[in-house]
Amino acid sequence: MKCDEVQALLPALLDAGGTPSVEVRVHIETCLRCQADLVRYRRMLRELRELRTRYLEPSPDALSRTLVNLWEAGEQRAIRSMLTGRRLAYLAAVGGLLVIAATTVTVLALRSRRRAPIAGG
Ligand SMILES: [Zn+2]
Repeated sequence: MKCDEVQALLPALLDAGGTPSVEVRVHIETCLRCQADLVRYRRMLRELRELRTRYLEPSPDALSRTLVNLWEAGEQRAIRSMLTGRRLAYLAAVGGLLVIAATTVTVLALRSRRRAPIAGG
């Protein structure tokens, strides 16, 4: 068995906690390179496990900073929604004015057509 083959099996063996085959075991016992890799994998797994359980002490002002950030984010959202609401009202007003202007122009145009004298009549 070659080192590449054994090293490809090491992570799965350690993660699953399974028993390696006799071939793999014999290779590891006689190969310093694979033994070193095995030690490295085990150390990495142990460190990852420690990271999972490590408790980080929050700084004394962490709560106040978090609350300030939340408050600022809420304010920005409120201002944004207010601006969006005003913009919509403005667009609705402009749209209404355009409709009124178009209707007036149409009515005036129809009236002037009716009043126009018939040529040659
Ligand atoms: Zn090897």
